[in-house]
Amino acid sequence: MTNQFPQAFTYQALPMRVRFGEPAFDVIAEELSHLGLRKVVVLCSPGRVELGQLLAGAIRNTVGTSGGDSDATCAGVIAKAVMHVPREVAEETIAEVKRLGADGCVSIGGGSAIGLGKAIALELGLPTVAIPTTYAGSEMTTMWGMTTDGKKTTGRDESVLLKSVIYDPALTSGLPVATSVTSGFNAMAHAVEALYAPDASPITSLMAEEGVRALTAALPGVVDNPEGLTARSEALYGAWLCGACMGSTTMSLHHKICHALGGTLNLPHAETHTMVLPHVLAFNQPAVPTAVGALSRALGGTKNPAKRLWELAHKLGAPMSLQELGMDRGDIPSIAKQVHSGTYGNPREASEEDITRILNAAWAGESPAI
Ligand code: NAD
Repeated sequence: MTNQFPQAFTYQALPMRVRFGEPAFDVIAEELSHLGLRKVVVLCSPGRVELGQLLAGAIRNTVGTSGGDSDATCAGVIAKAVMHVPREVAEETIAEVKRLGADGCVSIGGGSAIGLGKAIALELGLPTVAIPTTYAGSEMTTMWGMTTDGKKTTGRDESVLLKSVIYDPALTSGLPVATSVTSGFNAMAHAVEALYAPDASPITSLMAEEGVRALTAALPGVVDNPEGLTARSEALYGAWLCGACMGSTTMSLHHKICHALGGTLNLPHAETHTMVLPHVLAFNQPAVPTAVGALSRALGGTKNPAKRLWELAHKLGAPMSLQELGMDRGDIPSIAKQVHSGTYGNPREASEEDITRILNAAWAGESPAI
């Protein structure tokens, strides 16, 4: 290591079991059995109800095949997960899970399905297994989110931590190319902010650098051949590492801006991250030389990782401006005010004017300026 190695640091490892690379439907019964679960509910988005039902079938068909008393069955599929966990959706789902008498949940899908499982875990304390099918990374964190009357609240609570995560790259092969790219950038945003987090450690920095390397190496392959399992596996591996960094560090200005845009204006999560990240990174770069060094290595050598990430998003066909997502420029001042008035750490102090400049650049889709 370099002379920047810190004298002391704290690393909080999160207790969960991860299985990578096996067919999720083949191993789900074993995982439920391992956790001693007997009656689970499957959670997914409305658009993934077929997949949810297939999973429920896989769970039901394996009852009795793994032996012992802990074989689980599936009590039902709740296909209500939507972005940012609206409170009314969480409350309806909690009532349904109670009615079904479930003792655990299996979330299959992206951050929305996993977020709904976390809302249930927070309220009912039920253990949850996740089968992630995007690169959002929520399965690796103790962070929960809920949106009430247009305002997203987030918090950390160990009770929402997944008990077991099954990463099956084959289940990501149907993720549309455009979503794959923006979801990959969403993952990299976690790693970028972990590299300059106030509680970063050499361990989280290793994961962050490797996560960005893996995702930037894999995403062009995903775009060229969306069903190719080699690129899909590397992308999912990168997403796991990026999510794990977020699980062990405190996020900064970038995540704060994206939460405000998502919670208040209901902008799509992954796309918003893709557009905002290069601009916040460009703003922070002068204050974080070690993080710039790690990103430079991960990106194959560049003095300006923010610009390199922006160029990569462009090359991979991602939407580049908040304007394209339908955001009204007139909303920038209130979002800047909301972000500025909140509490969050950031390596460089950001005034309301700085935040406004970042939002203007992301709104217009400009190349990031340092
Ligand atoms: P998402 O879960 O809403 O998925 C996006 C869309 O893609 C959905 O319609 C879904 O049905 C579909 N989809 C998912 N996987 C698919 C596949 N393999 N093939 C085809 N379609 C598929 O979006 P997301 O970006 O994964 O998650 C966003 C949500 O997660 C937000 O609410 C965000 O706040 C939350 N999140 C939370 C954390 C955390 O730590 N708490 C971290 C990251 C994201």
